[in-house]
Amino acid sequence: MRKGTHLKITYKVSKFYNLPKNLEEILLKAVIYPDENRDKKINYRKGYFHVTNENHHRVDPEKIINYIFKARLEYLAKNYEYSMVNLGIALHYIQDRCMVSGTLHDERENKILNFKISEEAINRGKKEEINLFSDLKNILYQIKPYKSPEKIIYNACYYSSLVLKAVLNTNPPPKELLEMYEKYREKYSQEIIPLIITVIVLTLVFSLFFKNLFIILIGTIIVLSITGFKDKEVEENLSWYGIERGSPKS
Ligand SMILES: [Zn+2]
Repeated sequence: MRKGTHLKITYKVSKFYNLPKNLEEILLKAVIYPDENRDKKINYRKGYFHVTNENHHRVDPEKIINYIFKARLEYLAKNYEYSMVNLGIALHYIQDRCMVSGTLHDERENKILNFKISEEAINRGKKEEINLFSDLKNILYQIKPYKSPEKIIYNACYYSSLVLKAVLNTNPPPKELLEMYEKYREKYSQEIIPLIITVIVLTLVFSLFFKNLFIILIGTIIVLSITGFKDKEVEENLSWYGIERGSPKS
């Protein structure tokens, strides 16, 4: 996608969310950053090194999601400028993912560039109620690439708006997240702690019975790995709302 297209979409979306001027400027700089600083790919052919720009039109969704997550954490920490940097880079890759990969002919790129920005799509994204980070992730995994300028612009506007809304969200944690948190704590106190105690008791019994210190070592390793138990999805959903803890307490 052309730089101009990224800028047009992002500018319009930013206007819908009334971003302050200084943050809007950073967001617009960041949204074209991946094109100005492409990851390089080094090839070796016929005795020569060739450095080419890596095609980033189908960036791994995991990478995009990491930028969004960082944008959100920085936003919660009130590092708004750094949040916009991460958000802008994420938006670039999302917008690129809306179109088929490979170099497009100038003619098609021009068509996309000149296609009218869909306010309807931005509005639709703004109305979307996505409270959990895991739900946002699932949506982003499903972005489909299109050839038609109309669909590319529509989806790029829609997904950009949806992501901006999610990152800037100031609502309190949703009920479903608090329930998830409760279940997580329960699981820890009802399953993990008894399991740890069982392993400790078994380790002591066996090591006394076999008079073998090696068993204690094995037991300690098992206990440490159970204590480190974390449900990544729940942890991420909690962090998305700034709820931070180490291991859940009983
Ligand atoms: Zn690009």
